[in-house]
Amino acid sequence: MAKLEEIRAAEARLLLSTYDRNPILFVGGEGVHIIDENGTRYLDLLTGIGVNALGYNHPAIAGTIARQSQKLIHTSNVYYHEGQAELAVRLTERTGLDRVFFANSGTEAWEGALKLARAYAGLKRSEGAKVGTKFLALEQSFHGRTFGSMSTTYKEKYRTPFAPVVPGVEFVRFNDVADLRAKFSSEVCAILVEAIQGEGGIRPLTQEFFAEARALADSAGALLVADEIQSGMGRTGKWCAYQHYGIMPDVTTLAKPLAGGLPLGAVLCTEEVARVMHAGMHGSTFGGGPLACAVGIAVIDSIEKQGLLKHNTEVGDYFQQRLRRLATRHETIVDVRGRGLMLAAELDSADLAKLTVAEMLKRGILINCTSDTVLRFLPPYILEHSHVDTAIAALDEIFTQHAATHSAQSGGKQHG
Ligand SMILES: *Cc1c(COP(=O)(O)O)cnc(C)c1O
Repeated sequence: MAKLEEIRAAEARLLLSTYDRNPILFVGGEGVHIIDENGTRYLDLLTGIGVNALGYNHPAIAGTIARQSQKLIHTSNVYYHEGQAELAVRLTERTGLDRVFFANSGTEAWEGALKLARAYAGLKRSEGAKVGTKFLALEQSFHGRTFGSMSTTYKEKYRTPFAPVVPGVEFVRFNDVADLRAKFSSEVCAILVEAIQGEGGIRPLTQEFFAEARALADSAGALLVADEIQSGMGRTGKWCAYQHYGIMPDVTTLAKPLAGGLPLGAVLCTEEVARVMHAGMHGSTFGGGPLACAVGIAVIDSIEKQGLLKHNTEVGDYFQQRLRRLATRHETIVDVRGRGLMLAAELDSADLAKLTVAEMLKRGILINCTSDTVLRFLPPYILEHSHVDTAIAALDEIFTQHAATHSAQSGGKQHG
């Protein structure tokens, strides 16, 4: 504990206070567990917000990092290395898109997507089409913290301190087809979606809304851009969440689990969109370095070797079914939703949601809360039924205890 207190005091003095950290000091991990300085093992159902998808100390990731770090860590994109094309083959085959640009993070991949959309609209205009520069984003969207990404992110608290934001962004009510139709026009260069909103509370698009976005974009030469940074790379049981809908975007972005914990992002697009990019228009010093790419290749190969897409669907369905059964016992759970291992239980109280995260932590289980009332589960792909059972039992105990205290406080009124 002394060490943690020392670090807390030092950080409080030295770091920008951007994070409200939980008072735990992690030093290691193994499989589905992350381990603190006292050797306490936590069942990690958050995985560094969807990053550590293969769990901790995965032999393929650790081995690849060890080998590649002794060969080559960085080259600069002014030269070739082996990794980018090899990873790009895998990504294009699995996403159904044609070309890739590698970045270092989610927000940076998303900036690339926005730049592609604006540049492509410019190309179309030069070819005589009537396409504007406006972006339609969705309410409750989250696309990152840099200027373009932040400007297309819905929550005002992320945008207003940094005003003025990038102009030309309008927000459409989530899954509201009439609002989408009303706001769409030839001024729009791209419709921006997450097939399943992550930060916004694990909210899937309806088939109807997604299809309408595709149809509107097609009708006017605008692009449909899908942010798969949280939902992509197999988490939902398919490589990209849009594949559940049978709808192809023109552009997509990947990041969080892409390189097993190393920073790597990617923006992918069709051949048609790719023709707008020329040497020098976009770039990155670190993006797609040899180390990150080698690990990205190992992640994809491991997901396939271990049969994890099918596994995510199977264990995710089990998890969701257990959450639904829990909801029948506790009326504080007002909704259960998600797909594969991207799951949420929405509660009727923000206070209880916060308390639940803290109580789960005390019981050695990491989850988090998003959108105030939504308990979010982004477990590692190697999750087993027994881990689900552990989590459900802990939630059951927390809600039962809470209901008991609550009913005692409110004079014995039954609740859940
Ligand atoms: C996390 C996230 C981002 C931003 O990724 P960073 O790596 O934190 O910049 C963008 N879009 C979605 C959907 C995300 O979940």
